[in-house]
Amino acid sequence: MAIREGAWDCPACGRKRNRGPEKHCAGCGTARAADVRFYLPDDAPEVTDPAALERARRGPDWRCNFCGADNRADYTHCTGCGASSDGTPRRPVIEYRDTPQEKPPKKTPKKKRHGCLKVGCLGILLTFLALLFLGGAEEVTLTADRFAWERTAHIEARVTVTEEAWEDEVPSGAQVLERRQEQRALNPVPIGTETKTRKVTERVQVGTEQVKVGVRDLGNGYFEDIYEDRPVYETVEREESYEAPVYSAVPTFDTKIRYEIDRWQPRREIRLGDAGRPGRWLELDLARDERVSKIEALYTVFFTDPEGKSYRWETRDEEAWRGIREGGRYRVKAYTGSGKVTKILGAAD
Ligand SMILES: [Zn+2]
Ligand SMILES: [Zn+2]
Repeated sequence: MAIREGAWDCPACGRKRNRGPEKHCAGCGTARAADVRFYLPDDAPEVTDPAALERARRGPDWRCNFCGADNRADYTHCTGCGASSDGTPRRPVIEYRDTPQEKPPKKTPKKKRHGCLKVGCLGILLTFLALLFLGGAEEVTLTADRFAWERTAHIEARVTVTEEAWEDEVPSGAQVLERRQEQRALNPVPIGTETKTRKVTERVQVGTEQVKVGVRDLGNGYFEDIYEDRPVYETVEREESYEAPVYSAVPTFDTKIRYEIDRWQPRREIRLGDAGRPGRWLELDLARDERVSKIEALYTVFFTDPEGKSYRWETRDEEAWRGIREGGRYRVKAYTGSGKVTKILGAAD
């Protein structure tokens, strides 16, 4: 417990840092006032003189009620007038705790998002510019004058195939050709345990340390450091043994079946196409073991504008295609450069 010599300032002459235990100002000789405030200069050295330490530990000074003289704790009578110290209040002992340094609040840097935003804006701008230069679809009025169609029929055939599967996965309708035992899986089966070691870390208290948490004004011109015991922790690593399960890979067997089954399989495609709009589609010439799995169709209308430039509209919608009247005038959205019609807006007449 280090003891240090405090100081006081003289209100009469303004002299700073009179020595704490001195009762009179070294500048003007004025006595230490009743309400003197002691303070501990930052560079105050530790007191080592035994007599001074003794005095510091005696306790706070007292002030004579009769003549106002300051007296040491161990004096029973006033040095100024000889009055007794009985019932005279002592100077207060005051503790000053160090306030923990508050950390300045961390500035959380704002995420820079401008970069991404700029890229996004640039992309939109470029797309917009491209549309401006290449030209979007325009609204024009065209006359429908020719039609064409194209259909592709995907034909499947019923064929007998040979397949293999586990017994519980064989489809219904299968004709079994062969059964045999086969390894189906390797299953981990616990067969015991073995002792293993692993490292674990723990936080353990290894002792205490004395931490200075403030100073105590002893009321006699001296100050004493205040200490507190704080626990000291260390992270230690130790080895720990444990029982780990041991597994063995045990094969399991099951019945594998080889079987025949009829399945639909893609066989061929029939492509048909012509000009005009037929009243009914042609019958597809199919063998007895065949069926149509899917028909893909593409329907075309050829238009011309008043200058004789030709346009084409392609669609998979048969009903919309049949709805276009030969010789009829239609408002459409079209690319005038390529002659591609993107949308029929309605009849113009
Ligand atoms: Zn003074
Ligand atoms: Zn006195």
